[in-house]
Amino acid sequence: MNIYADRGNLLVLAHRCAWRGIGFELSSSGIGEPLYPDAHDLFYLGGGQDRDQRLCAEDLIETKRSALHGAAAREAVVLGVCGGYQLLGHSYSLGADEIPGVGLLDVRTVREDGPRLIGNIAIEVSLGDGSPATDGNDRILAGFENHGGRTYLGPDARALGRVVKGHGNDGRSGFEGVRNGNTIGTYLHGPLLPKNAWFADWLIATSLRIEGSELAALDDGLEKAAHLSARHAAGL
Ligand code: GLN
Repeated sequence: MNIYADRGNLLVLAHRCAWRGIGFELSSSGIGEPLYPDAHDLFYLGGGQDRDQRLCAEDLIETKRSALHGAAAREAVVLGVCGGYQLLGHSYSLGADEIPGVGLLDVRTVREDGPRLIGNIAIEVSLGDGSPATDGNDRILAGFENHGGRTYLGPDARALGRVVKGHGNDGRSGFEGVRNGNTIGTYLHGPLLPKNAWFADWLIATSLRIEGSELAALDDGLEKAAHLSARHAAGL
């Protein structure tokens, strides 16, 4: 799935690796295509409309579920955005209809009555691992959310961040996203990584199993301006 230019997230990863001389190869795995748990450092699931999610969910369960579990077990990075986040959980319920998820994150999503949760959003995250701190802004993720589903955390789920501005997982709890080891789900589109280059670097370093400080510094003037603009759009 891919909406709100989620593909931009992949471009950011590709370019930030290339600028540092780190080899980067992108492979897609469409409906019916196999997925190999050991073949990749990072697995990415984009967002999508409810209709697309139904199509993808069946295939995720049938052809990709065990590979995703295998990837997570060997601590590869698995990142799901919005619809992809919902499908990393146990289920996405729309009335009597329940779309099953792959169950990597202990969350359930429910499409309830009420408005879609839409708008610019900023969350404060604590990755708790000494990821590179450069300008004091690096703990904020800024982006855009648009989801009808409300995501509820189970007892084993730890939120990715605390909502500073916006709706987050369910519009009420004050939490956004979920992290379980190196498996991360978030509602932040935007796309996420062009607006938060520091997080792209955290994903790259974590995928490569190195410290963020081992990544060569880049000239991030434009990236920092994009980040600040996204924060301002969210009202920070
Ligand atoms: N279809 C899902 C929802 O509305 C996810 C939307 C998205 O990926 N932006 O909740």
